[in-house]
Amino acid sequence: MIRTKYIKIKDLNFIEKIYIIEVLKGFVITFKHFFSNLFKMFTNKKIITIRYPEEKIPVLGVAKLKSNHRIKLRHDGTPKCVACMLCSTICPAKCIYIEAEEVESIIEKAPKIFNIDLSKCVMCGLCVEACPEDAISMDKGIFEGGSYNRFLNKSLGGLFYTKKELFLNLENEKISELGASNSLIFRREKYE
Ligand code: SF4
Ligand code: SF4
Repeated sequence: MIRTKYIKIKDLNFIEKIYIIEVLKGFVITFKHFFSNLFKMFTNKKIITIRYPEEKIPVLGVAKLKSNHRIKLRHDGTPKCVACMLCSTICPAKCIYIEAEEVESIIEKAPKIFNIDLSKCVMCGLCVEACPEDAISMDKGIFEGGSYNRFLNKSLGGLFYTKKELFLNLENEKISELGASNSLIFRREKYE
């Protein structure tokens, strides 16, 4: 048998209805934190907030896996991407644009153009999930999404990634001598 429990919701009295006490309580908490942090700042004690963007703190855990995109390179410096278009097909924001070309390499096909318009990207990560070559990842560790001109290239402060800005290995990523040598530079230039 189903038992129904009735809960009586207490009506607000006049003081509660005008919310003045609650607003004052909020002010007390805000000013308490404000003056406590101000005091700590002048006495050189550790404060919780940082002066972003001048100061940054390292992002821990898997959070860094949802940052800006990159296309990984193989150990010989060629891109892992084979221009299969799966990422651009699945992208719900339609912000990936790829044109393929034939290349004289083991991968045979590579992107001639690979653009990502971050001003449209919703950071869903579906492109990473769909990639059969594990070529695209979102682990660059760059999170900032603001710009004064979203049409500019990312390297110029905009939100538009081209191949030049996407094709890279991370500094701490293991890469063979061949990949890290001139051949990598040559390959990068070739694919620009
Ligand atoms: S993260 Fe989502 S919206 Fe952004 S490029 Fe990838 S699939 Fe498109
Ligand atoms: S990044 Fe991956 S899914 Fe996108 S075109 Fe290249 S190989 Fe295909």
